[in-house]
Amino acid sequence: MPSRDPECIFCQIIAHELPSKIEYQDEWVTAFHDIHPIAPVHLLIVPNKHIASVNAVTPDDEAMLGHMFTVARELAAKMGVAERGYRLLVNTGEHAGQVIFHLHMHLVGGRALGPMLSR
Ligand code: AMP
Ligand code: ZN
Repeated sequence: MPSRDPECIFCQIIAHELPSKIEYQDEWVTAFHDIHPIAPVHLLIVPNKHIASVNAVTPDDEAMLGHMFTVARELAAKMGVAERGYRLLVNTGEHAGQVIFHLHMHLVGGRALGPMLSR
């Protein structure tokens, strides 16, 4: 059984205890639609195992972390944004504005996204 945090809303979504629009799930990862989308396509791809952030990943997680990119590629194609492009984002910690402390990759696309960061 993957480790989980009973207080964590993403762990609850993964376990289907909290409603969400799950687009994809396998033994390693779950992908669901962001509740406050910033673009026509806005998915969150998360490990099924509770990992608080990139600061908590270990070498044991490497296969799963690589798999997140394969799933991102497949979902970008499925959602119709692969050709024109999309952005994958992983906020880590306070300065990046991480709000949910369960590692997640944003997959954002479906419109021109502009420069990556404000200067
Ligand atoms: P971050 O700032 O990278 O921690 O992003 C957290 C993201 O989780 C935000 O884009 C939120 O809109 C999203 N979010 C929060 N609660 C939920 C939920 N229950 N279902 C789907 N997305 C959520
Ligand atoms: Zn969690």
